[in-house]
Amino acid sequence: MTDVIHAPAPAPVEDLDYEAIIIGAGVAGIYQIKRLTDLGMNATVLESSADLGGTWWNNRYPGARFDSESYTYGYSWSQELLDEWHWTERFSPQPETLKYLNFVAEKFDLRQYMQFGCRVDSMRWDDDAHTWTLQLGDGRTMVTRFVYTAFGLLSVPTLPRIEGIDDYEGQAWHPHDWPHEPVDLTGKRVAIIGTGATAIQIIPEVAKEAEHLYVLQRRPNWAAPLHNSVIDEEEMADIRRRYDEIFARCAQTPGGFEHGPDDRSFWEVTKEERLELWDRLYEGSGFGIWLSHFREIFMEERANAEFSEYIAQRTRERIDDPELAEKLIPTDHGFGIQRVPLETNYFETYNRDNVTLVDLAEAPIERITKTGVKTTDAEYDFDIMIYSTGFDAFTGAYDQVDIQGVDGQRLANKWNDGPVTLYGILVHGFPNMMMVPGPQSAVVNFPRTVETTVDWATPLMEHARANGHTKFDASAAAEQEWFDECVGWYDRMLIKNSQHWMTGYNSNLPGHEFGNTRYNVYNGGGPRYQRLLDAAAAEGYPSVDFD
Ligand code: NAP
Repeated sequence: MTDVIHAPAPAPVEDLDYEAIIIGAGVAGIYQIKRLTDLGMNATVLESSADLGGTWWNNRYPGARFDSESYTYGYSWSQELLDEWHWTERFSPQPETLKYLNFVAEKFDLRQYMQFGCRVDSMRWDDDAHTWTLQLGDGRTMVTRFVYTAFGLLSVPTLPRIEGIDDYEGQAWHPHDWPHEPVDLTGKRVAIIGTGATAIQIIPEVAKEAEHLYVLQRRPNWAAPLHNSVIDEEEMADIRRRYDEIFARCAQTPGGFEHGPDDRSFWEVTKEERLELWDRLYEGSGFGIWLSHFREIFMEERANAEFSEYIAQRTRERIDDPELAEKLIPTDHGFGIQRVPLETNYFETYNRDNVTLVDLAEAPIERITKTGVKTTDAEYDFDIMIYSTGFDAFTGAYDQVDIQGVDGQRLANKWNDGPVTLYGILVHGFPNMMMVPGPQSAVVNFPRTVETTVDWATPLMEHARANGHTKFDASAAAEQEWFDECVGWYDRMLIKNSQHWMTGYNSNLPGHEFGNTRYNVYNGGGPRYQRLLDAAAAEGYPSVDFD
């Protein structure tokens, strides 16, 4: 007699709580649930916050707004939506963006699929049943076949690793957790630690209200004017007429914006022509100053140095005190090799009597005290401290969920030295899990990346279903190739030297100190990314194994 060993059968769909679960109800989760429910799937969205919106639900700090032109940030997939929505400002402020996302959810009746206040603690893959089992913070367990992680890329705030942080007795918070009720800053001594893109939006607003604002700066950041403006009915009507053209343009530029590179070589034009271009870009709005540029500024030290000196000069002109101006101009990195913050009166804010720059490069913080901060040369007392000290970018949200794939392998272990993915969407050993988007995706104008990744991951899952597959996984070889491609782009660009979340730097996280490079982003640009994804889909997903 011979023993017949039957392979365990995958769990039938009827046995699942949901066929698909989306984690996160931000810009990505909202679009993903629309796609899945359009297919008639039994799907839900689990969101840990009390409502939808993701980034735009959380970050309610004064000055929070897009650095993307509003009409390039909105979803492109519904003509009705494009026809109905009126963006009132070129760079939408947080309340309007949250209103927009609610408008979308209500228009397409998506709230019915969302569950709020649901933290996912763990996800375990069952390689017999071809299912994921999710354990929720509220004690519930959910079994599903497909998981879409719509975690966002900058959703886990980090507080400073400074001795004494728990001793402080005043009010303190990270901008991500800015209170939802109004904060009265009048008569208050306010400190802000950090000068990243977030702080650069907050500082001018807080300075208008607070009795005194202290900016605690460790490294200055390059920044350039946003030049926001109102969009009236007439301009909005024109934008509506041009939406096809606008989205087509965004699909052609590396950054997913209307702003695209100048195809001339830096060196083939005269210095006067370069200056003429730079003046125009500096006076223009949005990311033109960063992205409508000669490619050499991202690749060549000499070109970058010349342009950085131009921006330094423009910055100096805006600050009354020349000594202070020099402290606000970076010397450790060139313009544009880190994500460039856009600002409204940021540098002029330092001309106010109620604003003090505390230069931590000269006198570092020794400790946080009960009443404020002690640096190596002074003590400061504050009523409120704002820790604008960045995020555990890309992988932080994944580390918060105990994700165990095939053979119990933990994603956190696999990514210990940095993320490894296929297209920033799949991870070998973690079948049926799709990141929309994840680390190593082409992080461009964010909703453009969201649409690209959702529009790839959804048909991939449909392809599996249509062909009777209950499991798919990135092949190990294809994942390695994608990792090498990501590394290759870093190697070609000055960004590789940047002390920034794009290279995994965050001084507040052990293992993320400068020099421990993590290849967080695919830097090959949106169009190339799209081409590679399109080719993979057209060829029947050769880089994915189906079971
Ligand atoms: P960030 O760029 O990482 O900046 C963090 C800041 O905190 C840096 O100035 C850093 O100084 C400082 N810092 C961190 N730990 C510190 C410590 N222990 N002591 C003193 N200083 C400390 O973070 P972010 O400003 O929140 O911006 C993150 C990203 O969010 C941006 O790059 C952008 O992509 C996104 N964002 C987008 C928008 C928008 O689209 N409108 C707005 C805001 C933010 P060092 O440089 O010395 O480390």
